[in-house]
Amino acid sequence: MARYTGSVCRFCRRENQKLFLKGDRCFTEKCAFERRAYPPGQHGQGRIKFSEYGLQLREKQKVRRMYGLLEKQFRNLFAKADRQRGITGENFLNMLERRFDNIVYRAGFANSRAEARQLVRHGHFTVNNKRVNIPSLELKKGDVVVIREASRNAVQIKTAIEASKRREIPQWLEMNPADFKATVRDLPARDDITAPIEERLIVELYSK
Ligand code: SF4
Repeated sequence: MARYTGSVCRFCRRENQKLFLKGDRCFTEKCAFERRAYPPGQHGQGRIKFSEYGLQLREKQKVRRMYGLLEKQFRNLFAKADRQRGITGENFLNMLERRFDNIVYRAGFANSRAEARQLVRHGHFTVNNKRVNIPSLELKKGDVVVIREASRNAVQIKTAIEASKRREIPQWLEMNPADFKATVRDLPARDDITAPIEERLIVELYSK
């Protein structure tokens, strides 16, 4: 599958906010956005005035980059959210949050969503007692994610769990650290997603 392999710090600088794509590094002074809080490129420090379309596009790119999805995956997920009952923007964010890789990250089993995706692909977790390696799997209320016994001592996972103590675990996840287990207690509500996202702009962009 196609994959972006360049610097992800560019994304934070382009979107003019920290997207926390590099785990612990994002909280240190090495963070590129802390050092150069302006868009990359020759004209990065010039004044930028966005059109309405520009604002919508930037919001879409920001959220897509936060969750680490390719354009096609992102658009397909939006189309799925659009077909559901309720408010499309909220459905969409809810679906993004319920992706398996995001839940592994939110539970603190990985330092970033990119790392979570890699760990999932390498089969380090079970969902409801079955080994699952599909990062895009949408989990539902009551699903239980457990780190496989053989993976519990992996340095990457141990480091992530240690670092996650500094992060807030969302209310909709129930953690059981002794058993290396996270349960989806509830479906994430809009208020549970605290990142600054204006989903209205994405809905407007894709409704054109
Ligand atoms: Fe963004 Fe993290 Fe890079 Fe800082 S270190 S620019 S927050 S990805």
